[in-house]
Amino acid sequence: MSRRDELAANLGAVRARIDAACADAVRDAAEVRLTVVTKFFPASDVRLLAELGVTDVGENRHQEAEAKAAECADLGLRWHFIGGLQSNKAVAVARYADVVESVDRTKLVAGLGRGAGESDRDVDVLLQVSLDPPGAEHRSGAEADALHDLADAVEATDRLSLRGLMAVAPLGGDPAAAFAQLAETHRELLARHPGATWLSAGMSGDLEQAIAAGATHVRVGSAVLGTRPEFK
Ligand SMILES: *Cc1c(COP(=O)(O)O)cnc(C)c1O
Repeated sequence: MSRRDELAANLGAVRARIDAACADAVRDAAEVRLTVVTKFFPASDVRLLAELGVTDVGENRHQEAEAKAAECADLGLRWHFIGGLQSNKAVAVARYADVVESVDRTKLVAGLGRGAGESDRDVDVLLQVSLDPPGAEHRSGAEADALHDLADAVEATDRLSLRGLMAVAPLGGDPAAAFAQLAETHRELLARHPGATWLSAGMSGDLEQAIAAGATHVRVGSAVLGTRPEFK
């Protein structure tokens, strides 16, 4: 099987899972957008995915993302930055990312605004919220009570648009319970920021639970591209 055929088959299976999950949740499948997470995979795969109709790709490491976005600049894709972001990289990320999904502290906001302004672009922002139980070793994401200040900081910054929330289910936990909590946090944010309608949740292993809880964007890597190469 060629790589193209393999990606086409995997993509078809993921799209069928999304459609089935939407049907189960009595939601219109057009409400849920697929971002294919291409981290660790080469630009040649991104090119094949674009040919297969993928419009949105996600990356989690700045250097890899920057290089791939440059190599694939002719494809008209929307690049989502979904990884932990160092504040000294925020300016650079905003020069190529169309959506930054992992904004979890106010310190990042000015840099993103500056990068967007300097490169004359508009950048969509999602606030990453932690779904880890209190006291758990912190992976990433803001605590829910920090979201209002963070949202206000994004809204006050030129060239940044607050679009909603992003989260990752806790390792080993029940994703349905975590996503129900996320949906509640999203409703609270929407009460103050009615434009923040996006909810990015769900990956290869838990996209059904995320769609049941109202996800508008799912981020799927391994179910499309295969097992990631070993971390070097
Ligand atoms: C890698 C990654 C994904 C995709 O994970 P898969 O399990 O491979 O689908 C989604 N979201 C984030 C934030 C990631 O880092």
